[in-house]
Amino acid sequence: MTTTYITTTIPYVNARPHLGFALELVQADVLARYRRSTGEQVRFQTGTDDNSLKNVLAAQRAGVGVQEFVDASAAAFTGLARPLSLSVDDLIRTSSDPRHRAGVERLWRACAASGDLYRKHYEGLYCVGCEQFYTTAELTDGRCRDHGTVPDLVSEENWFFRLSRYSGQLRGLVESGTIRVEPAGRRNEVLALIDAGLADFSISRSTERARGWGIPVPGDPGQVIYVWWDALGNYLTALDYADDGENLSRWWAGASRRIHLLGKGVLRFHAVYWPAILLSAGQAVPTDIAVHGYLTENGRKISKSSGATVDPYALTGDFGPDAVRWWLLRGVPWGADADFTVDRLVSRANDELANGFGNLVNRVVTVIWRYRDGRVPATAASAPDAAAVDQAVKDAPGLIGAALDDFDFRSATEAVWQIADDANRYVNQTRPWDLAKAADSARLDAVLSVLLRACQAIGTHLVPFLPDLAGRITRQCTPDGAGLLPAPSGVQPRIAAPTARDDQRGVDRRAGVHRTARARDDA
Ligand SMILES: [Zn+2]
Repeated sequence: MTTTYITTTIPYVNARPHLGFALELVQADVLARYRRSTGEQVRFQTGTDDNSLKNVLAAQRAGVGVQEFVDASAAAFTGLARPLSLSVDDLIRTSSDPRHRAGVERLWRACAASGDLYRKHYEGLYCVGCEQFYTTAELTDGRCRDHGTVPDLVSEENWFFRLSRYSGQLRGLVESGTIRVEPAGRRNEVLALIDAGLADFSISRSTERARGWGIPVPGDPGQVIYVWWDALGNYLTALDYADDGENLSRWWAGASRRIHLLGKGVLRFHAVYWPAILLSAGQAVPTDIAVHGYLTENGRKISKSSGATVDPYALTGDFGPDAVRWWLLRGVPWGADADFTVDRLVSRANDELANGFGNLVNRVVTVIWRYRDGRVPATAASAPDAAAVDQAVKDAPGLIGAALDDFDFRSATEAVWQIADDANRYVNQTRPWDLAKAADSARLDAVLSVLLRACQAIGTHLVPFLPDLAGRITRQCTPDGAGLLPAPSGVQPRIAAPTARDDQRGVDRRAGVHRTARARDDA
């Protein structure tokens, strides 16, 4: 039995979730649904990083207690499962889940037992936005390149992790593909990081600097565990690592694949720090580190700190989960950045979902109702001129599997789209309504059989990508016990495009674009 563990990163919850995180969730969901459909055992996990200092600062600005703040904010992230039609198996919240703290403490002790933790005095430049120390060489004009802020000068005694010890081993694992980093450009980036030399890194800070929030270092209550150590640990702690539970052996050590999905900004943490911690703790390393790019909105970076964020709740509320998922899968090349606009989402949904899939299904079922009283044609034979449609149906499973193995969501959806494209062309060529008028009964039956099989294949193969639309297509194309199809009802309506009358503000409101007065929320 193939067993696969798929995770997203756990975002800090200092602001509302944005479309970039929805991208990661949808990609993970597609992998989970697809692998389940092939008979694999799958566990799809997400969660929230509640212990970041950024959450503390945001709570202070909001004038509420930290736990109260993170509870309310985390709900906005964990609540995305329904509007995005996600098949999440498990959610972990690092401040409140009883599995987490005990697991993080065990991870700390395991690395300490390996002799990899030590205390030393340290001075460094810390960016709270990144939750990371920087050397002056890594800054531009003394400012963080991501946040544009001047990092804090921190001078204190911290715990350090002996990352340097694992350089050679990490390099071997990444180079051999034991840890597969996708796409290849990211793999090269990781190798370059390792080759530049890995310095030990600080894994705690004073409780005072952490403002009393986070998980205390075991046996050293004046120190709090570094939030990245804590957050990365979620991939193990949610599997009952603290108790060495059955989930740990099943979904970690015993899993065929351990797949982490993440954005390019946190590559170093996942492809260098995390595997080294796992090696130190005597645990298996991830098999796949799959790295997506960033989204921009009308050319501007979408992030929680940028002050402009496309709200996935508002988008799915306005356009439905299918249109949003479809743009994220079709409009974003794997591993690359992509620019989101409402117009792009709407035209893709109308061109491909409504005019492509929806119109095909509607035309086929309508013709079957009009000329065959809704009965599925008895013939099983294909038509001699249907080679392209039949080939697209036959090729789809292999193409989808190969593409998703490479995290190429766009090519995977292309294989399903190809069936609709060929089938719509076949409708136009054969003109079934003319065949009916010409009373060419056998020919009409053969053509309708080809087309209905194509629609049914679309319903099947769309499931991982668009579970909702796939369900509507399958219901529309599945005959009842008496061989009768449901009456045609339209599986995918067109979306009203933003009209020329809409000024920029109106368009933004439709799309749920929220502009906060606080431009740099977490700086
Ligand atoms: Zn920063």
